[in-house]
Amino acid sequence: MSQRFYSTNSPERFVDVREAVLRSLPADNGLYMPENLAPLPPEFWKKWRDLSLSEIGVEVARAIFLDSVPADVMERIVHEAANFPAPMVSVRERESVLELFHGPTLAFKDFGARFMARLMGWLTRNDKSLLTVLVATSGDTGGAVASAFHNVPGTRVIILYPKGKVSGLQEKQLTTLGGDITALEIDGTFDDCQRLVKSAFLKREMSEKLNLTSANSINISRLVPQSFYYFEAAKNLPKGVKPTFVIPSGNFGNLTAGLLAERLGLEVDSFVAATNRNDVVPEYLREGEYRPRPSVSTISNAMDVGAPSNFARMENIFGNEWASMKKRISGFAFDDGVTRETIRRIKSETGYTLDPHGAVGWLAAEAWRESHPEAHTVVLETAHPSKFLDVMEEELGEGSVEIPDRLACLADREKVAIGMDADEGGFHTWLKSLS
Ligand SMILES: *Cc1c(COP(=O)(O)O)cnc(C)c1O
Repeated sequence: MSQRFYSTNSPERFVDVREAVLRSLPADNGLYMPENLAPLPPEFWKKWRDLSLSEIGVEVARAIFLDSVPADVMERIVHEAANFPAPMVSVRERESVLELFHGPTLAFKDFGARFMARLMGWLTRNDKSLLTVLVATSGDTGGAVASAFHNVPGTRVIILYPKGKVSGLQEKQLTTLGGDITALEIDGTFDDCQRLVKSAFLKREMSEKLNLTSANSINISRLVPQSFYYFEAAKNLPKGVKPTFVIPSGNFGNLTAGLLAERLGLEVDSFVAATNRNDVVPEYLREGEYRPRPSVSTISNAMDVGAPSNFARMENIFGNEWASMKKRISGFAFDDGVTRETIRRIKSETGYTLDPHGAVGWLAAEAWRESHPEAHTVVLETAHPSKFLDVMEEELGEGSVEIPDRLACLADREKVAIGMDADEGGFHTWLKSLS
C-alpha cells in the first residue's frame, strides 16, 4: 500500500509522496500529514531494543512511507541520513539528556535535512533538470540544508544570506562546501533574502524550468527522521520505564515528531514543551487560547518563534481538541536570566555543559519533576554549546567550550560567494543564466 498525504486544511483531499515532499506546502496553506499511521507490528517490538538508531529508523520510515518508497531505497536513505549517533547521557538519576548535535552542523536539524535531501534526490531521479533548492537563511538553516544536499546526485542548492549579518563560522558553513552548493551574499537583510526567494517561486516559468523546491522546515519529510531518536532514547531506559520527553521548542517540529513516534506505538509517559519568552504554546495549553504574535529575541534564538509553524499538525493530531492536547503535553516558559543561571548551576553541580536551548529544556524538566518526582525525564539537547560561544563564555568563562573539529576546521577554508544586490531583476537574470 502506498502512503497518501492530506492537508490539515482539507482532510478529504490526498496527494502522493512526490507532491507532499517536493511541494512542502499545500495550496490551501495547511500542512501535509500521512493518512495511515498504525502502530509498528509485534515483530518490531520483539527486537527494537537490540536495533541501532538507523535500523530503528528504517522500520519507522517504512511505517510512515509504506510502499511509496521501495524498501531497499528507504534503507539506503536512512542509513546515509542517520549516519551519526544520538547518545543518551545520564546527568543525574532519572535525569537524562539526549544529545542530538553529533551531525555535521551540530544541531538536530541535520537529521531532518539529510533525510529530506536524499528522499528528494530519489524522487527526482528521472527528472530532466536538476532539482534546485532555493533557501534564504539568517544563519543556521542554510548551513544544515547546504550540508545535507552536498553531493546528493541530481540536486543543487542556492543559499541567499544577508551580507554581514551571519556569524563568521556560520558564513563559512554556507560558503565553503563548493560543488553543487552556491552561496549568494545579498546586500540587504534576511527579509530581503526571503522576498527574493519568494519572487522566484512566483515566476511559474522559471520555477518549473529550474525545478525549484524550498526544502523548508515544515516539509513532512523533515519530521519523519526526527521521530527515530525518540525510540533510541526509550530503548536505553530500563525495561518498563516510560520516558517523559522534554523538548526545547520553536516551530514545534521536534515535538510533533515525538507525537508521530507515539502514534507508531512508542510508550511515552508525557511530553513537556519548553520555550523561552516566546510562549504562545505554553499559554495555549494553560488558557485554551492560541494567540500567535511577533517573536522577541532571546539567547536561545533558534526558538524565537511567535507563530509556530507546526501548531496546525499538533491540533490535527489531537482532533482540534484543546483538552486532549493538554492531557498529553505540558508547557513551561523561561526567560534569559534563569536560563543563564541554569547553564552555570548545572555545570557546577554536575559538570554537564548545556547550551541555551538545552538549558530551557532542563528548567522545564525540573518544573515537571516538582509535581512528578518519579518521572524519568529525557531532555532533548538540540544543539552543541559551541554554536553559542558568546553566551557560553559569558557564563562559564573563556575557553570553557571546545569547538568540535568539524566546525573549527572551517575557519581556515576559503569563502566563495557571489555578491548581489537585493534586487529581484538582477536575481532573476542570474537565475535564468543557470542551465
Ligand atoms: C530549530 C531548533 C529548535 C526548535 O525546534 P522546533 O522543531 O522548531 O521546535 C531548538 N533548538 C535548536 C538548537 C534548533 O536549531
